[in-house]
Amino acid sequence: MSAEQQEKLGYLKPAPRIIPRGEHVISRDSISENALKVLYRLKNAGYEAHLVGGSVRDLLLGREPKDFDVATDAHPEQIRELFRNCRLIGRRFRLAHVHFGQEIVEVSTFRAPHHVSDDAGHTEDGGRIVRDNVYGTIDDDVWRRDFTANALYYNIRDFSVVDYVGGVADIQSGLIRLIGEPERRFREDPVRLLRAVRFAVKLGFRIHQDTERAIAVLAPLLDEIPAARLYEELLKLFLGGCALQTFEQLRGHGLFASLFPQTEAVLAREENGFPQTLLAHALGDTDRRLAENKAVTPGFLVSALLWSPMHAEAAEFMARGLAEHEAISMASDAVISRQVGRIAIPRRFTLVAREIWQLQSRLARRTGKRPQRLIQHPRFRAAYDFLLLRARSGEPVGELADWWTEFQRGAVIPEPVEPPPQRRRPRRRGRRGGIPNRR
Ligand code: ATP
Ligand code: MG
Repeated sequence: MSAEQQEKLGYLKPAPRIIPRGEHVISRDSISENALKVLYRLKNAGYEAHLVGGSVRDLLLGREPKDFDVATDAHPEQIRELFRNCRLIGRRFRLAHVHFGQEIVEVSTFRAPHHVSDDAGHTEDGGRIVRDNVYGTIDDDVWRRDFTANALYYNIRDFSVVDYVGGVADIQSGLIRLIGEPERRFREDPVRLLRAVRFAVKLGFRIHQDTERAIAVLAPLLDEIPAARLYEELLKLFLGGCALQTFEQLRGHGLFASLFPQTEAVLAREENGFPQTLLAHALGDTDRRLAENKAVTPGFLVSALLWSPMHAEAAEFMARGLAEHEAISMASDAVISRQVGRIAIPRRFTLVAREIWQLQSRLARRTGKRPQRLIQHPRFRAAYDFLLLRARSGEPVGELADWWTEFQRGAVIPEPVEPPPQRRRPRRRGRRGGIPNRR
């Protein structure tokens, strides 16, 4: 009998390590009231109910969980019967969302990895999982999770932590380790490549060497992820509070190139000359703003992520004789349309980026009534912030940026519009009783 057949029949199912209530740090005080309500109601209805995933990991680390996910043996319809405030969502995964005002507790039914149930039809060529809706028990469910640190269960029946995969030890030693055979698990779902980096950065963990080796080999698999899913991941990567480090690690692991090929091409070129720092500054600013609970817009992020390829392409158009604003407009179209083929960034955000770029050329014109008009533009603030960013990154716009700063304080007055060339001829004397302004 093959190992897989034995596994199917349950012979090799390893027993979990159960860490009793007194031997771990998780207390009910640090679990949201709503999550506790969900756990208890499931339990009282006779189902198994566990907190699972990122919340257990974060509680063990003494961090505040972003949200609470629950795993149970109740099926989605059974969950819905228990909660009035419940919606079933998802096609690939059918999940229950239990709503409490702003807070959503996500409840998922234990699932079996595809090979435990039947082998037919659950993976595409290359091993990618396309359907994953076969219900199972907790000791099936654990093996379909990604990293050991994400595969711990907190059992509401006895407040123990259930650990099948050595997750507690890996959390203690700060390791992100894929469960099972890394290459197969990355092939099943290449988004895990990005998740590995995201969690390593967010938690300050190292990526286990076997997992890391597989990332280096399998980075090209990112190309297979649908553009819509990549957009969701993009937000988690760059709006999670550690954008700068995440960017550096993504580049280090050869994953950034697949997300932003045009940007990577310029970065690679520029690093031989002087390094392109605008993106690094923008990501650092994003992290600082998030830390201060200030708003950040994906549109500004997009404008920074794609600035260097757009700028380079616009320069080529200008070298061919196009006016700056036309060159920027055409380069924006080209760069954005290539990028959204890769990552489905919604139009409302690519429009913001376009406007910010377009306004860069208008910011250079500061005579007459133009500055006063520009200041009223709804995107002026973002465009001005972007100009500051360019100045800080060593682009030759420092003087211009200072001018705008002073102008907004009312400390400088725009020069009058230069008269068009044909009117520069000396005028008749004494028209306004003064001496004509000759240059
Ligand atoms: P975060 O703090 O970012 O919410 P998380 O670990 O809770 O981290 P989620 O994306 O909310 O991450 O997913 C919840 C759990 O579902 C994970 O901890 C993991 O067990 C499982 N999971 C999520 N995505 C995958 C995936 N692509 N492959 C395997 N398991 C996954
Ligand atoms: Mg989560």
